[in-house]
Amino acid sequence: MRVRVYHGAALAAYGFGQGHPFGPDRLDAFWREFVRQGLERKTEIAAPVACSAEDLALFHTADYIARVRRQSASGEGYLDYGDTPAFPGVYEAASVVVGSVLDGLEGLIEGRCQRVFVPVAGLHHARRDTAAGFCVFNDVGVLIEALRRRHRIRRVAYVDIDAHHGDGVFYSFEDDPDLVFADIHEDGRYLYPGTGAASETGRGAAKGTKLNIPLEPGADDGAFQRAWPRVEEFVRAGRPEFVILQAGADSIAGDPITHMQLSPASHAHATARLCALADEFCHGRFIALGGGGYDRANLAAAWTGVVRAMLDASGEAL
Ligand SMILES: [Zn+2]
Repeated sequence: MRVRVYHGAALAAYGFGQGHPFGPDRLDAFWREFVRQGLERKTEIAAPVACSAEDLALFHTADYIARVRRQSASGEGYLDYGDTPAFPGVYEAASVVVGSVLDGLEGLIEGRCQRVFVPVAGLHHARRDTAAGFCVFNDVGVLIEALRRRHRIRRVAYVDIDAHHGDGVFYSFEDDPDLVFADIHEDGRYLYPGTGAASETGRGAAKGTKLNIPLEPGADDGAFQRAWPRVEEFVRAGRPEFVILQAGADSIAGDPITHMQLSPASHAHATARLCALADEFCHGRFIALGGGGYDRANLAAAWTGVVRAMLDASGEAL
């Protein structure tokens, strides 16, 4: 099995309650469609794994980690200015999201698998010292730091097609010339978090290593197809040693909290093309993260499409 997918109740525990846009039923919706398509027979299903506080500290500040732990015990208050509530066990649940991504990385480094998909992960709004936008710990940030400090892999490409700008990743690595960042999102003038203008290209030595492509509300597959070649060219020019995709499904038509009109075909296309780049530059090693997506049918279609594209790109029969 060359494609590994993480699934289990411990991953679904990361959510803000039934009825919340980021509810625990998101993972169930994905899994039902995944099984309906028979994908569990073509992939390696891995159990979620918790990470340690030491893992979190690769990216997050000690103060913030301690604060999440305290509020996880009480289950009270917000972890940011009012979007991301604490709940009992939030520390453990958020640690499982990060731990599963790190476990996937180990699988790739050890050569046990070639591509990894972690639904629920891709919590791209969290900063080093605070939660934001439903994101408690930033698994992308921890992954990038783990690649550098534990595996001496410095040049990392991060591509984000979630409707929201990946601000937690962008600003944490804004002055880092070795983080090749490309993000197609709904224009920040119309959507949270309000950032990601085309003029934001990185700072200092990192100037020119970040590509932000804001699209108008209502942008469809045609607009995505016109923007995509720039992303691919940008990633290729960056000659990354590792490729990460945040495949947020909230950029698909019908999402209740955004205004983009993509179809799952865009997510499948991005995955296929990035797998080809990973084959060219990174020994095929590729991690895709589920990201946002609040219409359950949309996220099920987009994420299964991502897995199918990974299988296809690995020469596995569909
Ligand atoms: Zn989003």
